[in-house]
Amino acid sequence: MFCAAEAGKRGRRTLLLEHNAQPGRKIIISGGGRCNFTNIHTTHENFVSANPHFCKSALAGYTPDDFIELVRSCRIEYFEKKLGQLFCRERSHQIVEMLMAECRKAKVVVKTNCSVSNVEKDDKFTIDTSLGSFKCESLVVATGGLSFPKIGATDLGYRIAKQFGLKMVGTRPSLVPLVFESGPADAIKLAGIAVDSEVSACKRTFRENILFTHRGLSGPAILQASNYWHQGEDISIDMLPGMDLVDALNQSRHEKITLAGWLGHRLPNRLVQHLVANGLPNKPIEMLTPKEISDVAAKINEWRVRFQKTEGWDKAEVTLGGVSTEELSSKTMEAKRVPGLYFIGEVVDVTGWLGGYNFQWAWASAHAAGKAV
Ligand SMILES: Cc1cc2nc3c(=O)[nH]c(=O)nc-3n(C[C@H](O)[C@H](O)[C@H](O)COP(=O)(O)OP(=O)(O)OC[C@H]3O[C@@H](n4cnc5c(N)ncnc54)[C@H](O)[C@@H]3O)c2cc1C
Repeated sequence: MFCAAEAGKRGRRTLLLEHNAQPGRKIIISGGGRCNFTNIHTTHENFVSANPHFCKSALAGYTPDDFIELVRSCRIEYFEKKLGQLFCRERSHQIVEMLMAECRKAKVVVKTNCSVSNVEKDDKFTIDTSLGSFKCESLVVATGGLSFPKIGATDLGYRIAKQFGLKMVGTRPSLVPLVFESGPADAIKLAGIAVDSEVSACKRTFRENILFTHRGLSGPAILQASNYWHQGEDISIDMLPGMDLVDALNQSRHEKITLAGWLGHRLPNRLVQHLVANGLPNKPIEMLTPKEISDVAAKINEWRVRFQKTEGWDKAEVTLGGVSTEELSSKTMEAKRVPGLYFIGEVVDVTGWLGGYNFQWAWASAHAAGKAV
């Protein structure tokens, strides 16, 4: 929608094809119905890609301030929830309505309930759809990633890339809860507990809540780490960030309190009881041996967790991987080897952190292509 409007404003005859009954369904369900539409701290460092520099040019060409200005001009109220994350105050529909209004202003023709069956290229592109065939000079593929298939996600974009011989980076679900390798028995007892933690995966560390689920862990810190997690690797979790437990316990040795009592002031009780049931020595802290103290610290400051898998496409917010950035111009998003063919948004191998970065990439890459087609 955003790319179509940008192209339309330049006087291009623009057609938007969407197989759902309305465009922008992911926007509608995003941010818990309030769409975290950008992040004011966006830089290229908030993205995962085989080429971490690729997104720089588009992000510089269309910044969070640019999108905020558009949102303001449409009198959509918003607020910063935390960490630079901007959300609609009312509902995410407003963003879709804003983008549709931009399309109307730019005379974009929108065809919904239109599924694309085939794409060919000679001097122009021919797009065969359930509503007939269309010809165009430029084709922008903005089909998104594979997550949330129930609202219309498909692999069409990846198929078009492959059809034209473009390289792909393997796709996998991300910003997604993870499933314990050890099975659900323990997890069920802990489900619902949230703990402010520092979560590290592949040399990246995120400090936010973790949330125990019936099968493993979720919560913002885990979703962030899932962008960097690879199967077979441990994730390290510090459930008392900023506190060196060895030091803290040694300094508290004079207190007349059991280890469980002491921890209970700092961690949720249900979690402490679970740790005790699983071998944490429950005795007065003055009686703990140095080895016991370092074992407790290892369990809490550096809990190493092995996950079996992610919760998959139905729960993932985004797709890691996609059309290789090697194939695309970072200035225009055009395929270097296929003039006129563009890829923007999540279908490209650029994946943002949780917190509005994925939409900012969608707007910025759409803007780059919309100015070029
Ligand atoms: C539950 C959830 C919450 C999210 N919340 C946020 C958030 O708050 N902030 C944030 O930054 N990101 C969020 N994201 C991620 C964000 O929604 C996406 O990264 C973003 O929508 C990608 O934009 P896009 O235009 O590339 O693709 P999409 O928004 O997925 O749009 C692709 C469009 O192409 C259509 N399409 C697909 N296949 C075909 C086909 N074969 N024929 C015709 N049309 C087709 C789809 O129906 C869809 O309308 C969330 C994602 C999910 C799943």
